[in-house]
Amino acid sequence: MAGSGGRSGAARRGIGRGDQRHSDRIAGRRSFAAKERAAGLVRVGGLPLGLNVVLHRDNLDALDAIVELGLAWGVDRIELANAQFYGWGLLNRAALLPSREQLARARDAVGRWRERLGGRPELVWVVPDYFDGVAKPCMGGWGAVSLTVAPDGTVLPCPAAATLPGPDAPNIGDHTLEWIWDRSPAFNRYRGTAWMSDPCRSCSRREEDFGGCRCQAFALTGDAARTDPACGLSPDHGLVRAFAQEGGAAASAPYVYRYPGRVF
Ligand code: SF4
Repeated sequence: MAGSGGRSGAARRGIGRGDQRHSDRIAGRRSFAAKERAAGLVRVGGLPLGLNVVLHRDNLDALDAIVELGLAWGVDRIELANAQFYGWGLLNRAALLPSREQLARARDAVGRWRERLGGRPELVWVVPDYFDGVAKPCMGGWGAVSLTVAPDGTVLPCPAAATLPGPDAPNIGDHTLEWIWDRSPAFNRYRGTAWMSDPCRSCSRREEDFGGCRCQAFALTGDAARTDPACGLSPDHGLVRAFAQEGGAAASAPYVYRYPGRVF
């Protein structure tokens, strides 16, 4: 849940709540100190540095501390990404789902920080799609902007797409990247709008959000081609509404951690 990686030439580091104890708890291992050291090395190396923070019930109220940590580390960008509930996030939903009130407080805090910081560092707020009734344009559209190459050479339209049924994901050892992007069945499966059925097919927003997230549609309905249930127009939206009403209700559920060899 605390991610690291590269994008646009930037190094990214994730932290939990802006302090060692909470960061290590959500990560399931002592990793905060290593992230802090890595952030220092990135700055020394003159590379852009981003802080990628997955927001959830346990850290949404610590937004001030998270932004202050980013300022102390000298980051260029802070991505405040509300947890998405598929894959391991779905397994941990009872522990991670915030309340509507928490989200409102965090939104207000982001607004205050934006005003105060004036865009440096940039604060990105990734919307909590369970609560707004609006589907997010996942990955900017399937096979539209980016791809993921896994360590074994598997190429995916998004990091979570391995959870979906359908055509086997192509491998960079078997095909050129050009063929994979342009012609592979996996990358064409949900590209554009032709695959959509109603309500997306006839919706004016279909070129803007591309029907939402395929992985979330599959995780919640068993059919990756359905409208993302996060959308208020989806016939399955009641599922998400019911979950959102539970937000913050459970006292404290234990985290289910991912470790090598464990599958969900
Ligand atoms: S119906 Fe489909 S295209 Fe329209 S807003 Fe909902 S997810 Fe987007």
